[in-house]
This record gives sequence, C-alpha cells and structure tokens, in this order.
Amino acid sequence: MSERDPALVDVTCPACGHRLDGSTCATAGPDTKPSAGTSVSVCVYCAAPCRFVDALGPFAGKRLRLVLLTPEEMEELPDDIRLVLALARAAIKQRKSLH
Ligand SMILES: [Zn+2]
Repeated sequence: MSERDPALVDVTCPACGHRLDGSTCATAGPDTKPSAGTSVSVCVYCAAPCRFVDALGPFAGKRLRLVLLTPEEMEELPDDIRLVLALARAAIKQRKSLH
C-alpha cells in the first residue's frame, strides 16, 4: 500500500484501540482496497481478528470501521482465508514477543 485509503480515516482496532490508517491485502494485489462486509483483517498491533463494516453516522458509505470477528464468523471463513489470518496473527504475536 502506498497511498492512504480515505475509507480508513480514523479506523481504530476494537480490541486495543490503536489507530489503523492503512491496510495491506494478503490475498490479492497490493492495490486491493478493503470492502465493508466482505474483508477481514488482523490488527498489526495486537493481532486481533477483525472484519470491516460500514462506518456509523455521517461517514456511513464513505468510511469503514473494524469490529471483532466472532468465533462463529471465523469458522465460516473459507479455509484459505482462515489460514492467512492465522499466519498473520502468528507473525504479529512472534514480532511482539521479540520486543
Ligand atoms: Zn489491536
């Protein structure tokens, strides 16, 4: 990702509260943008599994926000996406343990 995505302004992790202003797609091209309802993510700070949904209030339809993935939602993900999430979470947790 090279440019700020305007849909990701003021997105915060629902688990740790860190502000996330960018995303990198692990399964498609680098220019792929997240979509409300279909894109899942992992917080780069705490490794929380999340999904993108529409922002609330005046920014609905223009910006995204993150909500935590429930265990049931994790189970419903396709195997390849669940694997990518697990690998990303493991890498983030390992990096955190090195500091
Ligand atoms: Zn977080």
